[in-house]
Amino acid sequence: MLETLQQLLVVQDRDCRLAQLKSEAARIPVEIAAAQKRLADEAAKLETAKTELKKIESARKQLEVDVEAKRQQILKYRTQLNQIKSNTEYQALLKEITKAEADIRTTEDVELEFMDRLDRLQPALKQEQAQLKELTGKAETEKTELQKRVKLIETELTQLQGERAQLVTAVDADLLSRYERLLRSKGDQAIVAIKHGNCGGCHLNLPPQIVHTAKGEQELASCSYCGRILYWQAE
Ligand SMILES: [Zn+2]
Repeated sequence: MLETLQQLLVVQDRDCRLAQLKSEAARIPVEIAAAQKRLADEAAKLETAKTELKKIESARKQLEVDVEAKRQQILKYRTQLNQIKSNTEYQALLKEITKAEADIRTTEDVELEFMDRLDRLQPALKQEQAQLKELTGKAETEKTELQKRVKLIETELTQLQGERAQLVTAVDADLLSRYERLLRSKGDQAIVAIKHGNCGGCHLNLPPQIVHTAKGEQELASCSYCGRILYWQAE
């Protein structure tokens, strides 16, 4: 293989690794943000459940107050009963007492329902709280790991960039700029192997003359379709 091509392939190897690392580094903040979002969603769900619980609790307390008020009312009615002379008024008051007693029963039924709901909701809430705590712990560990990974990537990037800078000093400037232009426009590889007579980049079948040139290893060959620099690899 042409020496200059060999040098450039080493550069391409570093560029490939650099690109991988950069894309990994770019994904990390996205992953961290997604984990934070999941936590925030869980926390919001928990808050909703807590609010619901509080609402039921205060409604239940209000019912208790209502029942107590009705009881006081009945006591008053009973006192009044002793002072009433007219039978009609007496009967009317008795009716009021019966009605108040029925109201108490109804209210107490509702109160029982509320208590049932509280009994069901409280353990669920505790479970959600525990889950959130676990998730938060996991997310924190994950975040620390990812931040460590970012540091490692940064170190490797610096090292690779240094290596690359060293390597390119040996490469012909024109060829290097041609290579870099190709790399930017193709996005993956600027130098590819010929595979079964096809360009390893665009996979189109190459004219025999180009394959011949690449095989000769005397001058650079490039794909007539995509422009990538070609090298011959024994099949
Ligand atoms: Zn091609």
